[in-house]
Amino acid sequence: MTQIEERPATTAAETADKWLAAFNAALEKGDTAAVSELFLETSFWRDLVALTWNLTTAENPDGIRAMLDATLAHSRPRGFRTTEPPTETEGVIEAWIEFETEVGRGNGLLRLRDGKAWTLLTALYELKGHEEPRLDQRPKGTEHGAFRDRETWLDRRVREGDELGYETQPEVLIVGGGQGGIALGARLRQLGVPTIIADKHPRPGDQWRKRYKSLCLHDPIWYDHLPYLKFPENWPVFSPKDKIADWLEMYTRVMELNYWGSTTVTSASYDEDAKEWTVVLEREGHPLTLRPKQLVLATGMSGKPNVPEVPGQDVFRGDQHHSSAHPGPDAYAGKRCVVVGSNNSAFDICGALWEVGADVTMVQRSSTHIARSDSLMDIGLGDLYSERAVRSGITTEKADMIFASLPYRIMHEFQIPLYEQMAERDKEFYDRLEAAGFDHDWGEDGSGLFMKYLRRGSGYYIDVGAADLVADGEVKLANGQVDHLTEDSVVLEDGTELPADLVVFATGYNSMNGWAADLISQEVADKVGKVWGHGSGTRKDPGPWEGEQRNMWKPTQQEGLWFHGGNLHQSRHYSLYLALQLKARAVGIDTPVYGLPEVHHLS
Ligand SMILES: Cc1cc2nc3c(=O)[nH]c(=O)nc-3n(C[C@H](O)[C@H](O)[C@H](O)COP(=O)(O)OP(=O)(O)OC[C@H]3O[C@@H](n4cnc5c(N)ncnc54)[C@H](O)[C@@H]3O)c2cc1C
Repeated sequence: MTQIEERPATTAAETADKWLAAFNAALEKGDTAAVSELFLETSFWRDLVALTWNLTTAENPDGIRAMLDATLAHSRPRGFRTTEPPTETEGVIEAWIEFETEVGRGNGLLRLRDGKAWTLLTALYELKGHEEPRLDQRPKGTEHGAFRDRETWLDRRVREGDELGYETQPEVLIVGGGQGGIALGARLRQLGVPTIIADKHPRPGDQWRKRYKSLCLHDPIWYDHLPYLKFPENWPVFSPKDKIADWLEMYTRVMELNYWGSTTVTSASYDEDAKEWTVVLEREGHPLTLRPKQLVLATGMSGKPNVPEVPGQDVFRGDQHHSSAHPGPDAYAGKRCVVVGSNNSAFDICGALWEVGADVTMVQRSSTHIARSDSLMDIGLGDLYSERAVRSGITTEKADMIFASLPYRIMHEFQIPLYEQMAERDKEFYDRLEAAGFDHDWGEDGSGLFMKYLRRGSGYYIDVGAADLVADGEVKLANGQVDHLTEDSVVLEDGTELPADLVVFATGYNSMNGWAADLISQEVADKVGKVWGHGSGTRKDPGPWEGEQRNMWKPTQQEGLWFHGGNLHQSRHYSLYLALQLKARAVGIDTPVYGLPEVHHLS
C-alpha cells in the first residue's frame, strides 16, 4: 500500500497572506474587477473614511467594485499587511490589518471564508503629515534655556483662551458639551484644529449632574472610556452620574479644551460662498457671533424631549413634566405618581419613586424589550467589554474595531443567539413579568437591545432592579394610551382612571435633526433628514436600507454640518473618524465623498 503523503494544512496566516498579496496586486493595477472577485458572493467592505471620506458599507462584489471604481484613483490604498498572526474559528479566518492610502494610514479587520473575503473593515486612523503629537512626538512642555520673555504653558493657554472666538475664529464650533462634544473636542485638540465647545450649562458634566439623583450609567466601565484617558482600575462598574460628571469636568480641563459653559447657541446660517457659518450665541449673557467653517451638533440623542400634548394638561393640578426634567423622587414620598412610558427612563424613575415610598403606576403604551443587566454584561458585552475581555487581550480599542467590523446588515445575526441565551437564563423572570401583564418583546427579529438602540434608539430597558417591582406588582402596571388628564388623574383610552399627584412623561426623545430646525432652519433640517437608524425596515427605523447610521459622524446633505453623539462607546470611537474628516478639511486635503445617502425621511 502506498503511503499517502500528508501535506501540512494551509495555516490561517498563509491563507491571509495569500489573499492580501492578491488584493494588493489587484489594487496596485487598479483592477477593480479582480479586487471584487476576491470577495464572496455575499460580502461586505465597511470603510470608515479611509477610501470614501464617508462611513459606508459596500455589499457584495458588485457594490465593492462600484465603490472602488469611484474611489481607488484618488485614495490609492496599498500595503495591506497583517499586524499579528491571524486566527481561525469555525472556518472563518480573522486577520488584523494595516495599510496606507495617498493621504493617511489605516487599520482594520479582515474575515476570510473559503479563501475569499467575507467582511473587510478599513478605517483611517491618521493623516500623513498631521499625526497626533504623542509618544516620541509628544510636546516637550517647556523650552530649556533662559529667556526673558518666556511664555509659559499656562500663559499660552490663557492667551489662546482669550483670543479664540474674539480675535481668531474657531475652525470648528461644537454645539453641546456633553460626553459627545467633549470627546470630539479632545480629538480635535490633539489634531490641532481650533475648536470651541459651547454648552448652555455652566460646567462640563452638568448634563449628568442635573439628571435624577439615582441615575447611574447602565453601560459598564469598559464600554465607557473617553479617548486618550481611561478610567482608573478602581472606578465603579456603573458610574454614578455625579462621578461621570466630575470626570468629564476634569477631562475637559486636563485635555485643555476650549469649553464655553453658560453659552447658548441661538441661531446659525451657512454662507455657501464664503463656506462658513454665522453662528449667534450668548456667552454668559453677552451676545457674540462666531464664524466657524464647520458646525457640529453634539446636542444629544437623548436631548430633544418628545413631549406629548394631552388634553387636560392645563387643568391637571399636580406636577407634570417630561422625564428629562424630572427632579428626582424626594418631593413625592407618599404621593400618587403615574409614569407614562415603559423604557429606560420610565423604569429608573418608577424604581426611584418606589424607593421613597410613593404609590407608583407605570403606563405601558407599547411593548418593551428588557435585558437583565447581569445577563447583558455577561452574555451580550462580556467578550468585548469586561475585565475578562481585557485579560484575554481585547483592549477597548480592539473591542471597538471588532464591533465596527460587523456590518449592520448582518449584525442582528450575531445578536439573536445572545438573546436566546438570555431568554433561557432568565426564563423565570420573563415569565413573572409577562404574568404581571407586561408586554415584552425581543425586537422584531429577536435581536434584542443593541439592535433596538441602533435602529430606533428606544424601546428597551436594561434592568437594574426596577423590572422586578413591576413583575411583583410593587409598581402597578396599566396598559394603553393616555386619553386625557383631569384635575387629579390620568385617564386612558379604555376609560381606566389613574389618580395622580405627579405625571411623568417618559416618552423619549426626537430625531437630532430637530436641533437643526431649531438652530438653523426647517429647510436645512429637512435637507439633511432623519438622524439615526440605518433603514432596517423595523418600527421607527423605516427603509430603504441605508447600511450606516443616518447622518451620524459623517458628511450630511448640508455642507459644513455634522452630527455627533451616541453612547459613550460610539462617541469615543466615531469621534476619531469625525475629527479626521474635520482636520482634513481644515488643512485643505481633498475629501471627495463617496456614497452620500439620499434623504428618505424627514424625522
Ligand atoms: C436616563 C438616561 C440614562 C442614560 N444612560 C446611559 C448610559 O448608561 N450609557 C450611555 O452611554 N448613555 C446613556 N444615556 C444616554 C446619554 O444621554 C448619552 O450617552 C449622553 O448623555 C449623550 O451625550 P451627548 O454629549 O451626545 O449629549 P448630552 O449629554 O445630551 O449633551 C448635549 C448638550 O447639548 C447642550 N445643548 C443643546 N442645545 C444647545 C444650544 N442651543 N446651545 C448650547 N448648548 C446646547 C445641552 O445643554 C447638553 O449639555 C442615558 C440617557 C438618559 C436620559
